[in-house]
Amino acid sequence: LLASATDFDFFYHVQQWPGSFCDTTGGCCFPGNVKPAADFGIHGLWPNYAACRPAGDTNRTRCWPDFCNAGDTFNPSLISDLRSDMDRNWGTLSCRSNDSTAFWSHEWSRHGTCSNMDQHAYFLAALRYKARFNLTRILLDAGIAPSEERTYCVGSIRDAIGEATGSAPGIECNRNARNETQLYQVYQCVDLAGTGPVPCPAVPMQSRCTDQVKFPAF
Ligand code: 5GP
Ligand code: 5GP
Repeated sequence: LLASATDFDFFYHVQQWPGSFCDTTGGCCFPGNVKPAADFGIHGLWPNYAACRPAGDTNRTRCWPDFCNAGDTFNPSLISDLRSDMDRNWGTLSCRSNDSTAFWSHEWSRHGTCSNMDQHAYFLAALRYKARFNLTRILLDAGIAPSEERTYCVGSIRDAIGEATGSAPGIECNRNARNETQLYQVYQCVDLAGTGPVPCPAVPMQSRCTDQVKFPAF
């Protein structure tokens, strides 16, 4: 393992708000046609560099490693004990497949193979981190509840999560079908073991957000 260990600085633990995935022009679909709970879902656990760096032989700059081992493909039987937890907390919302296995396979191939963890440890770490900091609950406790009408200051969302976890997250927004900006994904910075929060290097991204954002019901 040491000889092939991937060099990176921290993980992004990324969660998506289903209301904001589903109310876009693209819409969404649910595995088995069963609507999941009104809770954040895991998108992935992504190895990242603290600063983007030259990609060696080319002119390109890389900000994270990905696809680190093409020979190491996702094997559902290695995480069969995690299956119900995965279904509840890491479901696909894509209409391209009606079960989440393709999503998990993609996340493993692109990001997990760079994590220096085996498949079971990787998926378990992501599940545990979500369970440790319940973002839906943290926001609710701060008075930030999903709403059809309200907007929230994106800074108050970041502060609520930062105070509860000890690390201010990155917030990503998207737009609903009426072109209104809304909270889409939360990026938490996590140590290399995948267990504890770390300060996000530099300024956490705040991509595509405006000062006031919606947090739509689901
Ligand atoms: P998008 O362009 O939709 O933001 O991201 C496309 C894909 O690029 C994501 O699904 C993810 O795999 C990867 N990606 C985007 N931003 C980051 C990042 O900051 N760190 C890592 N490790 N991957 C990212
Ligand atoms: P990324 O490369 O950014 O980590 O993951 C994005 C890829 O996962 C895309 O190919 C997307 O089609 C697929 N995918 C499957 N289910 C989902 C989902 O529920 N949310 C997101 N954001 N991507 C999903």
